[in-house]
Amino acid sequence: MYQIAVASGKGGAGKTSISAALASWLGNSAISCDCDVDAANTALAMEAVIQSSEIYYSGTAWEIQQSSCTGCGRCVPVCHFGAIHMQKTLAVIDEALCERCGNCVGVCPSAAFKPVQKTGGELFISKTANGSLLVHAELLPGEDTSGKLVRAVRQKAEELATDQQTFCIIDAPPGIGCPVIAALQGCNLAIVVIEAGQSGIRDAKRLFELLASMKRPHASIINKTGIDAGADAQARQLAGHFGSRILAELPYDKRFREATEQGIAWHTYTDSFVAEHSCSLCTAVIQIKGELDDKSHTDR
Ligand code: SF4
Ligand code: SF4
Repeated sequence: MYQIAVASGKGGAGKTSISAALASWLGNSAISCDCDVDAANTALAMEAVIQSSEIYYSGTAWEIQQSSCTGCGRCVPVCHFGAIHMQKTLAVIDEALCERCGNCVGVCPSAAFKPVQKTGGELFISKTANGSLLVHAELLPGEDTSGKLVRAVRQKAEELATDQQTFCIIDAPPGIGCPVIAALQGCNLAIVVIEAGQSGIRDAKRLFELLASMKRPHASIINKTGIDAGADAQARQLAGHFGSRILAELPYDKRFREATEQGIAWHTYTDSFVAEHSCSLCTAVIQIKGELDDKSHTDR
């Protein structure tokens, strides 16, 4: 599968709309992954309906078996996170505070600690309006294993993909942290969505630096142009500085947002302004894929 990750370094730059537009345009030859597991919304943009779900286990946690606890209190001081307290004569773990370090387990003379699988969230397989599959997930509040869940989302997409699905379109999370690295790892092409504005340009720069350190091929789309000519020029300059070819520039126009909010694939939108921009953007992505393929054949 050829994996294309759409990332931006910041939220609100338009990566979800753009990845949804690309996935919709590719139709059944693509499977989509929403890797923004803290705020997944590709399902809305693609009018997806959940077909099945499964529990995501984030790792091993510990439970105190009340029938074994003698109330000796030895486990309380060894917990550096203040997660254990005595409730009358029994020790109790506060799940929200427990960091699952396991320090408490070895000190218990009654072997009262029992390992349990910790539920970290849920993983969903959905069918989009055009019939293609979308894998997405929801991390429970307070869970800090988003990188692991991103890997689970991508792995599920790989398991589901048939020979027909030659593309995987990844909607990467915002920022440049662990979940973003998990979303970009091993992708064949990263599309950097640069929002033409000061914060968008600053965050895109950090993303380019990350991509350079990960040695991932990339290209750019400049979004929301036409508001500030200076910012447009800076965005172009930034892409040029990192050797990232600009595949498209999308002007700031509420019609893009309207199409996304209605869950309508951009290339099918009744307004030709949106449809034409979307088609030329998607064509440019496929064209650069072809060029990268040719280059890798030549390099062999
Ligand atoms: S596993 Fe670690 S953090 Fe959790 S209760 Fe035991 S000592 Fe505290
Ligand atoms: S060390 Fe074991 S027996 Fe003692 S209070 Fe903690 S859980 Fe209960």
